[in-house]
Amino acid sequence: MSQQGYVAAPPYSQAQAGMGGYSAGFGNPPPQSHYGAYGSPPQGYSAPPTGKVNLLLLSSVRKLASFIFNNNLFFFALVSFPPPVASAPSMSPYGQPPQSAFYSMAQAPPPTQQLTNQMSAMNIGGYGKLDGQRPMQVPQSPSSSAAPQQYHTSPPPAMGHPPLSPPGQQLSSFGSPPPMATMGSVAAPPMGMSGPPGPGVHQPPLGPQGYPQQPGPQMAGPQSGAFQGGFPGGPAQMAGPPQKKLDPDSIPSTTQVIEDDQAKRGGQVYVTNIRGQVPPLVTTDFTVQDQGNASPRFMRCTTYSFPSTADLAKQCKVPLAAIIKPFATVPKNETPLYIVNHGETGPIRCNRCKAYMCPYMQFMDGGRRYQCGFCSCVNEVPVQYFQHLDHMGRRMDLYERPELSLGSYEFIATLDYCKNNKPPNPPAYIFMIDVSYNNIKSGLVKLICEELKTLLDRLPKEEGAETSPIKVGFVTYNKILHFYNVKSALAQPQMMVVSDVAEMFVPLLDGFLVNFQESRAVVNNLLDQIPDMFADTNESETVFAPVIQAGVEALKAAECSGKLFIFHSSIPTAEAPGKLKNRDDRKLVGTEKEKTLFQPLRGVYEQLTKDCVAQGCCVDLFLFPNQYVDIATVGDVPSHTGGSIYKYSNFQVEVNGQQFVSDLRRDVEKSIGFDAIMRVRTGTGFRATDFFGAVYMNNTTDVEMAAVDCDKAVTVEFKHDDTLSEESGAVMQCALLYTTIGGQRRLRIHNLSLNCSSQLSELYKSCETDALINFFAKSAYRAMLNQPLKTVREILVNQTAHMLACYRKHCASPSAASQLILPDAMKVFPVYMNSLLKTPTLVGSTELSTDDRAFHRLLVNAMGVEETQVLLYPRLIPLHTMDVSSDAIPAPVRCSEERLSESGIFLLENGLSMFLWLGQACPPDLIQNLFNVPSLGHLSSEGMSLPVLDNAHSRKIHSIISSISQQRATSMKLLIVKQKDRSEMLFRQHLVEDKGLHGGASYMDFLCYVHREIRQLLT
Ligand SMILES: [Zn+2]
Repeated sequence: MSQQGYVAAPPYSQAQAGMGGYSAGFGNPPPQSHYGAYGSPPQGYSAPPTGKVNLLLLSSVRKLASFIFNNNLFFFALVSFPPPVASAPSMSPYGQPPQSAFYSMAQAPPPTQQLTNQMSAMNIGGYGKLDGQRPMQVPQSPSSSAAPQQYHTSPPPAMGHPPLSPPGQQLSSFGSPPPMATMGSVAAPPMGMSGPPGPGVHQPPLGPQGYPQQPGPQMAGPQSGAFQGGFPGGPAQMAGPPQKKLDPDSIPSTTQVIEDDQAKRGGQVYVTNIRGQVPPLVTTDFTVQDQGNASPRFMRCTTYSFPSTADLAKQCKVPLAAIIKPFATVPKNETPLYIVNHGETGPIRCNRCKAYMCPYMQFMDGGRRYQCGFCSCVNEVPVQYFQHLDHMGRRMDLYERPELSLGSYEFIATLDYCKNNKPPNPPAYIFMIDVSYNNIKSGLVKLICEELKTLLDRLPKEEGAETSPIKVGFVTYNKILHFYNVKSALAQPQMMVVSDVAEMFVPLLDGFLVNFQESRAVVNNLLDQIPDMFADTNESETVFAPVIQAGVEALKAAECSGKLFIFHSSIPTAEAPGKLKNRDDRKLVGTEKEKTLFQPLRGVYEQLTKDCVAQGCCVDLFLFPNQYVDIATVGDVPSHTGGSIYKYSNFQVEVNGQQFVSDLRRDVEKSIGFDAIMRVRTGTGFRATDFFGAVYMNNTTDVEMAAVDCDKAVTVEFKHDDTLSEESGAVMQCALLYTTIGGQRRLRIHNLSLNCSSQLSELYKSCETDALINFFAKSAYRAMLNQPLKTVREILVNQTAHMLACYRKHCASPSAASQLILPDAMKVFPVYMNSLLKTPTLVGSTELSTDDRAFHRLLVNAMGVEETQVLLYPRLIPLHTMDVSSDAIPAPVRCSEERLSESGIFLLENGLSMFLWLGQACPPDLIQNLFNVPSLGHLSSEGMSLPVLDNAHSRKIHSIISSISQQRATSMKLLIVKQKDRSEMLFRQHLVEDKGLHGGASYMDFLCYVHREIRQLLT
């Protein structure tokens, strides 16, 4: 309820100078009346259900309900998408760029650009495996990264007949407009299409200028007009006479791009001292040395060269965004963040824009003043901070002060940055266990209690501290809530029951949140008793919102931030605030109303989110559903409080127990900050306009996170509000104010400087596909709450075509329209985009569970670049050819059925799921080594597991699995599938280069479609 004062007050407010106002309104002390009941003698005792816990029944105590409906709370405004268009994809939503702008950009590329274009053109058709055989192969040079890759596609052919034109066909269209495909009808095949196939599919001969005479890959075009909803390439395309096999190696390969970057930049030290430098890919192993810009682990951008004007930005449609993971894990071989303590005076900040001292501040006037790198305001240097300048104009103490020389560091915050000008208390973790029938029966409650006994010893600690300052509390619930007094002085834990869930309160203060070390005996006693206490329960109804409410109230009472760990299994149908009913209507799929399936129910949950954020109460939700639970709604509070959501459908201890326990351990132990506010400041000319993540926005600039952990990323979109200076570039500073687990208030600063250019070629050269797709995924997943999915998909495809067409128009050297020319840095963008369109959330199939789709949507919303990368292009690792003596993970192959072999074994992982695929004819000795059975036939199709055996193959495969698991934020349950088994479908839906099982084009078809769109845009 103290939201307003918390958010608007300095120091995070730009409008007000000084920091004094922060305390105002920041959490008024809870009125005594809330807790009046605790002091008074208990109203009555009754025996606990079973066991020895003392029970206190306090059902009649009332307090004012605080559920206020507020329609204006959520910002699901659509910023990055144009208004819905019902028609087929076209340019119209974006508007045509003004002609003048076009002509100014249409100048001939500089000679070097042209040369690289020509050189790279020599590589046509030599992409991938042919590279090494080509005598005229271009040596790798720094400038070659700017070179576009060129791929030919023929005009869209009639369905089912991939064209293979003879060499002359393509030559004749060189320089003259190619035959046009007509939208909305099946395109006529070009002349000569039925002729004998040319040799060019595999190795086109080179023309006089280095351009091939023969197109490289020629692609089977999708059926025109079929590109909506389910995507082109219906069954008809698969039927018919045997097709001439296209060479899939000829289209850009993600695995190749990843391998190339690893070969080029892997194992190296990436020094962050150059503005606008594009970092290695997220998949590459590298070490970061901070020399003035934040590590790419903390911040990654969609491009490292911003266009200098808003017009250019509009023209190219490439989103300008940064993906910020403020708490990203820093590997052990990299320097942890320095902590700067300026004592009582606090950090030095620009008087005007409030940016924090950083390497972009320019000192002048003998060191007495500095110019802000963000707003250009000239500030006085405080006396205590004065330092002489050297002959270069740099402060003599430059390298002694992290805030002058590093991209990332922390400041100790003063009391001005604390609620009520008081140092915060250490946070608390409250474990809230649904003890309804299902969870007892499945053994889940017993598992949780057993696990907590050891896990509570592993709560996060401050650096060097012996014990964790985090307090713990316990609640169990079904239709009513049970609180436990686990004070160390007690011989037995006491239970207090609150059955009036309509007006939630916490029935005890003292003894609810305790230090585990001190209360170990009582807590362990409680954890031993809980499963028995409810062993005979018949209660299957649960409440949910009152559980969160209870958690917030407990933290409020203890005046601390913290996290709720809620272990929940069913849709909350019991009579209580936030009661839900099944609204899973699959008939809505594919209609205008499909979006309502993903919109959370507001009201109670909206108010809960506000309460949680104001209190710094993060909600982690572990779901164990057997049926629909309305994840869109129950996941709403977690997804706005920096929380995580886990889902274990049809939970069985033997099947998912280990996976759940690993997730819980990692979640409890992980590095985390509480009660956080993030502000992204930028240099003049542009600003942060939109934010995507597990965050809450009460105004347009302050990103509030009840907690932020090492896995959570916020994607920030930027827009121009003026022209950017090429000289000063585009600088940004992310400042995160938060409370450490030890209860210290700190500011974590990440700075990043990008280039600016009036040449779009610079922008395309500096693009990062992995970051781009993260932005598109998050923005599309938000847009789908307000627009029909069909529109969202169309916008994504349009924008893909538009970005690539703009490159073609303004940056690539002139060439035949039949050539698909992609910027080098974006050459695999289409495969990621196509994969995004096929994700369960966006694909829109009635076969998919609504909860799964909603779950997926919320997960992606909080993901960083690494997570979206592997999710949208899973790793498919051949294991039958692995070198058991090597430590390395075998090189992945492309995610397509083509790459599987009957005699092979493959591992597939996407960060959420892991599969072991066994080919029908895989060698029996390998099966023997891995499963200890003589052949594949001896393996049952259901519930297979991978035993740990004492041989090199078994050890190797387990070591691969464990090293992959360590890289991922959630544990992945290994699913073993045999070729041609029913469960193989689950595996196959991750082969993202193939046609989607639930709809969606193959990569090849999508590329053809996009190419055709590009050609339309260019004419
Ligand atoms: Zn400033």
